[in-house]
Parts: sequence; C-alpha cells; structure tokens
Amino acid sequence: MKFTFVPYTLKFKRPFSIAHGSRDSTPVVFTRLEHQGITGYGEASMPPYLGENHETVLKFLTKTEKIIRKFTEPAEIEVILSQIDKIEIGNTAAKTSVDIALHDLAGKIQNKSCHELFRADKKKSLFTAYTIPIDDPQGIHSRVEEAKAYKILKVKLGSADDKKIIEEIRKLTDKEIIVDANEGWNDKHFALEMAHWLAERKVLFIEQPMPKEKTDDTAWLTSKSPIPIIADEAVQRFSDIERLQGVYSGINIKLMKCTGMHEAHKMILQARKYGMKIMIGCMSETSCGVSAAAQLAPLVDWIDLDGPLLIKEDYFDGVKFSEGKIILNDLPGIGVVPISPLP
Ligand code: MG
Repeated sequence: MKFTFVPYTLKFKRPFSIAHGSRDSTPVVFTRLEHQGITGYGEASMPPYLGENHETVLKFLTKTEKIIRKFTEPAEIEVILSQIDKIEIGNTAAKTSVDIALHDLAGKIQNKSCHELFRADKKKSLFTAYTIPIDDPQGIHSRVEEAKAYKILKVKLGSADDKKIIEEIRKLTDKEIIVDANEGWNDKHFALEMAHWLAERKVLFIEQPMPKEKTDDTAWLTSKSPIPIIADEAVQRFSDIERLQGVYSGINIKLMKCTGMHEAHKMILQARKYGMKIMIGCMSETSCGVSAAAQLAPLVDWIDLDGPLLIKEDYFDGVKFSEGKIILNDLPGIGVVPISPLP
C-alpha cells in the first residue's frame, strides 16, 4: 500500500468563539492510501486545544509508513490499526486519518459502503445539530438565521451571558436546543440550577457542563438533573467509558479524539451495553472526516456533524443534509469523492 499525506489549513466562513477561545481556521492533514489502483481518503483535524498540529501529525504519519508498507491486505484493519496505535500514545487525529483512509479503501475493494459493513441501517433518520457559538445578541440573530434549515441548534455556553444567550434564541425560535458548556461551569449547584432553567426552555441535554476532572460533582449533577448530562472533553477513547458509568448519562464520540471509525464503533457497542446515550460529533473538518463519522450515525441517538457547513471551502463531496436530515449515499467506503483540485 502507498501512503501519502498533505497538510492544509481550513478557513471558517466566520470566526468562531467557544469557552476555549476564538479561531478563524483549523489545521488539517489529508491522507491517501493506494492499493492496486484504488484510493482511500482520510483526514486529521487538529483543534489547537487538543495538542496536535501539522508538525506532530506529519511526524507521526511518517512513522506509520513503515507499518503500512508491510501490509498487502487493507481488510486487516484491526491488526494494522493496533500496530499504529502502539507507535506512541496520543496522536489521535493522526491515527484517525489512517483509520478513515483504511476503511475507505477496504470498503472500495469490497464494493461496500462502510455503513453497510458496520450494519448501520441508513434509513434511520437523524437530524444534525447546527452550532451557534458564543456571540453578542446581533451575532446570535444572524447565526440563528443561518441555521434556518436545521431543526436542532447546538448552543455554546460557558460565558457570563449564558441565560441571555438562551433568552435571545428563544425570542427567535422554539427549535430544540442542545447546550454545550465546554466545561464552563465550576460549581455543581450553579450547574444544577442551570439544568433546571434550561430544561424549562426545551433544551434536550447538556454537554460537558463542568470541568472533566470534577467526576464526583458531575455524578451528583447527573443524578439530580432533569435532562441528560453528556460527556465530551471527559471521554476520548474506549477505555474511558467504563469509569464514566453513573457519572454521565451519555457520551459524545468524535473520530478525531478516539482514533477513528474502528474504535468509535467499539465505543458505541460498549456504551449501549451500559445503557448510555450516544452522540457522534466532529471537529472543524471537511466532508471527508464527517462522511466517515456519518457511516456510524444510524447507530447513535444524536448527531452533531456540522463541520463542513461551517468551513469556507469543502474538498470532498460526501454525506448530504436535507433540511438538516442526514442523507447517506451508497458509494463504497466512506462515500466521498474529492472535489478537484485537492490541496
Ligand atoms: Mg463539546
């Protein structure tokens, strides 16, 4: 197998503010895996607060080349990925870019879509949330307007204006809302008061209300909250799920955090075993990364896959949304076609 990778920077349509800070672009790396004339595509997206960047990803991917070259059978996904995982800890976005390209390639060779290979029924309808970042009232108005075609809003909180932001949105729409506090609330009593206040305002659940280290306080909050409390920053990989039982009502799985589709699928099965709710989310990424995540969408409860909708230019044609409803195609692999010219 031949492996190539290209660093690139995706620009956002508009600058984006969350509790972690503000940005107008995000670094990504596109990967290609070729075998007997067939190409699989992958992507790594590296939000700066998670510690990976162009340099670390390129360095890691260079180390994977030796392993990849050794294999002549792309369907040996589990074996290949476990060897790559052992190269070094962390580097989850870099690992994901190999995982996605490998799944895309293996699917294409078998002429099967990945959702078919994962036995995910694409007829199950899910609506993606559309993100409303932290903004002033005027900014919120235009963001809600932009989200007109989407049924569920994901509202970023964790600033001093949390109630004002929700009240502003509720003046404009009665759509369902998901709140993501990005670890922004420090006090459990305040977080519980917010949970009650938000539940009265048609909020479906709260993602990561408190810092991920505050396990006992979060367990207390989850036991008393009228709406589910979902882990995001607190969960990365399969091995995290067990200790989150009873602490959170569910988990937000992102490919870039968990090393890709193979591990995400294992996490879905495990979380289900524990009776936990599951959301599948994304970083700022193109339709490549998001189409990969979307292959697992029929297996989860909620999706937050608006990454390609928020970037200036997409480089792949893949999963589509119709009025916010996810539409998986039947193309083999992750179902993407690069829009030329690929950077
Ligand atoms: Mg989040």
